[in-house]
Amino acid sequence: MGMNKATFVVGLQYGDEGKGKIVDLLAEKHDVVMRGNGGANAGHTIVLENGQALALHQIPSGIAYESTLNIIGNGCLFDPVKLIDEIRDAEGKGVRISPKNLAISDTAHVVLPVHKAKDAAREGSYSAQGSTKAGIAYVAADKYLRAGIRAESLKSKTEKELYKIAYDGLIEFGENPDAADIEASQFALASVGLSEYIKDSVALVHESVKSGKKILVEGAQAFGLDIDHGKYPFVTSTSTTVAGLLVGTGLNASHVGRVVGVAKATPSKVGGGTFVTSIKDTKVAEQTRGKKGAVDAEYGATTGREREVGYLDLVALKRAVDVNGVTEIALTKFDCIKRHGKTTKIAVAYSLDGEEIKSPPSSDDQLSKCEPVYQELPTWTDNESAEAQKYLEFVEDYLGVPVSMIGTGPGRNDLILRSAK
Ligand code: GDP
Repeated sequence: MGMNKATFVVGLQYGDEGKGKIVDLLAEKHDVVMRGNGGANAGHTIVLENGQALALHQIPSGIAYESTLNIIGNGCLFDPVKLIDEIRDAEGKGVRISPKNLAISDTAHVVLPVHKAKDAAREGSYSAQGSTKAGIAYVAADKYLRAGIRAESLKSKTEKELYKIAYDGLIEFGENPDAADIEASQFALASVGLSEYIKDSVALVHESVKSGKKILVEGAQAFGLDIDHGKYPFVTSTSTTVAGLLVGTGLNASHVGRVVGVAKATPSKVGGGTFVTSIKDTKVAEQTRGKKGAVDAEYGATTGREREVGYLDLVALKRAVDVNGVTEIALTKFDCIKRHGKTTKIAVAYSLDGEEIKSPPSSDDQLSKCEPVYQELPTWTDNESAEAQKYLEFVEDYLGVPVSMIGTGPGRNDLILRSAK
């Protein structure tokens, strides 16, 4: 009997590609859902059977399915205080959570209150990066400084010891004692409350593979934000690629099966860094962004910040496909292409200093000098039309992988599965 291969889902652009819907669909068909990167800075919304929306940040997306095991892998940067809140929220919506269906890797690094304090301080300073203030950069820094604490400590240390670690860190950073006391108490209480969930996740996932279970690895953030391959320094602090997810789960290359890359047909971006295919015509941009308040409008979910919208960039996407070993694309917001007007554009190359290039430059300085070379294609209203098919074939030919799913609307079921040719 052949070993079950794991399915990987990764974002190929700047996050918010609509991974929620894709992961939700796939989670139902897998026995284990595991995360291997990111932390409380990630997340998406799934829709429960009772119709309620559940925002997940650290808990993997299989949590709503009764018999699915959810694992927070070693590559995650895990925040006990926020995880407890997330568990309570899910339980309040009728989801049952126990060590039977949720495990936390004993080697995942732990976000301390001081990491969040430092993050918030930086966001208020000249070196603000538009971070979510979840402390991710600082917990990652401590991990690589070999000064971090891992989830195993939450099990081996007492509440008092954990309080002291959190408190001392805050005081050293200059926090006032009263605030430090409150935060350290919260941290210590949350930490001991999670001790039963902390396990050898690597053993757990390998046992699962051996017993024939189907594994889904859900990536957080996206390729454009990858610490190595993204647009540094406008990136996150963990690896967002399939290779990063192998490190972050303890799975190996022979386990890699389907790699579903999620991309928006109408990409968008927030934060710093060049967006080569940004739509310059303000009217078209506005139309593409959608009305503020609409579920699928391109405004930040928490900040309300307007997102920059662009045309599909196959140059950037090809790089993401190559590095991840993407085997199929889920193209979301396919229904939004018509917002561009009678025709749409697809970047097939960049022009840099009069030369046409097909590899995206790594430096943002170079990237900012690139002009997109566009292919113009007619739009459509009927997703089954010849124009729509032509568009998809164009994308498939360029990227060399099939588009296996298209998103046709904001709703959970607005998804068309395409069969392989
Ligand atoms: P994630 O951050 O990648 O997990 O993105 P989400 O799953 O939170 O999706 C972001 C938003 O895009 C949600 O409001 C979805 O309703 C919307 N969305 C996702 N797919 C589509 C699609 O195919 N068409 C339209 N119009 N909206 C979509």
